[in-house]
Formats: sequence, C-alpha cells, structure tokens
Amino acid sequence: MKTDEIKTAIEESLPADENIDQYIDSGILSGNRVAIATTSKRLIICKKGIFKKSYKDYLWIRFQNVILEEGLRKSSIQLALAGDDELLIKNLDKDEARKICGFARKIITVTSIKKISTGRTCPRCKEVVKHLAEVCIHCGYDFKNRQ
Ligand SMILES: [Zn+2]
Repeated sequence: MKTDEIKTAIEESLPADENIDQYIDSGILSGNRVAIATTSKRLIICKKGIFKKSYKDYLWIRFQNVILEEGLRKSSIQLALAGDDELLIKNLDKDEARKICGFARKIITVTSIKKISTGRTCPRCKEVVKHLAEVCIHCGYDFKNRQ
C-alpha cells in the first residue's frame, strides 16, 4: 500500500467538517510503516504492518503538554495526556517534528484557555467555578476527592 492510500483512507474516515492539515510519512518503525495526520480536532497515527493496519485517534483536547526532543538527525515528540498517559512519536524528521509541535502547542493553548474561561459547574451548588479549582468558592465542595 502506498502512502497516499493511507492518507486517502484517513481522509475518507473523517467527519465532513474536518480536513487533514498535516500529513507525515515517518517511514518504517520496527517493521511498521508509520504515518501521522493532524486535523483541527485530532492527531491520527496509522501503523501499517504486513498483515494489518491500525488507525489511532487522539483528540487534541486530551493533550496537556508537548515536549520536543531534537536529536542529531531525528526528533521525537512526547505528548502528555490527561491521567498520566503519554504518547511518544519517535523518528521524525526535524522540520516535521517542529511543525507538529508548533501545531500541538497552538491547539493545547487554545483548548486550555477555553477550559479556563468556561469553568465548570459545581455539582452541589451549581455555581460556575474556575476549571482548575480544587474547592468550590461558593459552597466549599471538594472537587479533588470526589471525581
Ligand atoms: Zn459549590
């Protein structure tokens, strides 16, 4: 299967209002061809082996942090997900890694601003408090211990 066919398969699986912004074929990694696509909402990683291929979707909104590690020739990107999970993308071309990283940063910033400005509703008193608040300032509800 050619790279373009992977891209086409991803494109066809996307919702109508989403398009691929970036598409990177990062070559063969431990026997699989790995391709990465980004849209405004998600990061898709396709692994294509001899017998099967898998598409994994990660919504940008789930990422909290991005780390770019530049090696001599190749770079890797580490993305931290909510709940201590992380995603490591290795063996990327340096320029491509920078692009994905820049894109991730932009989206992570936008979503965290959105989260903070929207806040969340206290389940007890129904007042809106800051997204990162640990205790409701209106009634003292403890978000930390009751999630
Ligand atoms: Zn409250």
